[in-house]
Amino acid sequence: SIQRQHETIDHIKQGLEQGEFVLYYQPKVNLKSGALIGAEALIRWQHPKRGLLYPGDFLSIIENHPISVKLGEWVIDSALLQISKWQSLGLNIPVSINIDAFHLQQADFVDKLSATLARHPMIKPSSLQLEILESSALGDMAEVLTIMAACIDIGVNFALDDFGTGFSSLNYLKRLPVELLKIDQSFVRDMLEDADDRAIVMGVIGLASAFNHQVIAEGVESIEHGRQLLAMGCHCAQGYGIARPMSGEDIVTWAAQWQPDPAWLTSLH
Ligand code: C2E
Ligand code: MG
Ligand code: MG
Repeated sequence: SIQRQHETIDHIKQGLEQGEFVLYYQPKVNLKSGALIGAEALIRWQHPKRGLLYPGDFLSIIENHPISVKLGEWVIDSALLQISKWQSLGLNIPVSINIDAFHLQQADFVDKLSATLARHPMIKPSSLQLEILESSALGDMAEVLTIMAACIDIGVNFALDDFGTGFSSLNYLKRLPVELLKIDQSFVRDMLEDADDRAIVMGVIGLASAFNHQVIAEGVESIEHGRQLLAMGCHCAQGYGIARPMSGEDIVTWAAQWQPDPAWLTSLH
């Protein structure tokens, strides 16, 4: 297993040098207004032998290894490049990237982030959102809070990803300065059949509102999901029912033609 890890790390280093990594982007929309409110960057590895690999195929192997920081830095840089490409085409949308806890907690994280942003002066730092898993904050709460505050100082904001799958601690929710809660896709996917999952979704929407956070549902796979989310007061969504993750170029054509389902437009909420 250790040998496999070493091999993977070497291959990732090579892959980074040879430009084998790509970011796909999944649109985030307002179901009711039809507005494209942003996109989430999702990493893919165009492996020369194994084909297109998903994060689940390689990220866990490099967890807590310095190469995961290198890869994370590449993600931030590429997302900013994409934002500027979109800007030059008249598409102004924020991008969220998934940030690994180990990367976020590097001593020079904020300095490097500032330096990267400084290399893209045309991009407002508020166009970048960092998605953290609830568990990211558990390690050293005080340290993470300091880092988050420093990021917010330079204009970068946070989302809490996969909310509901971790400890869902109200104490953390109270203290973490996040702008957005992302309801985990497992609850959203099953909420049409499972009353408990529906209750969880409703609960998270209520929590978000109580703590003054925005809320978005992940894993919206059908029109009915969107309809029920709207009825529960959740207007923002992301999922295969809206769009699958796609290349940065494809986002431009997608954005020009996407229209919300008529069933969503007529929602009373
Ligand atoms: P996530 O951040 O919760 O991202 C959502 C995942 O759900 C993505 O899988 C996306 O393709 C998938 N998804 C979106 N809509 C639907 C839907 O309607 N139904 C279903 N079944 N799935 C949907 P992906 O791209 O395989 O990413 C998996 C996870 O890997 C992400 O979960 C995120 O935690 C992590 N990840 C992705 N890119 C990066 C990255 O650049 N850096 C780090 N550290 N982690 C990343
Ligand atoms: Mg995410
Ligand atoms: Mg998620």
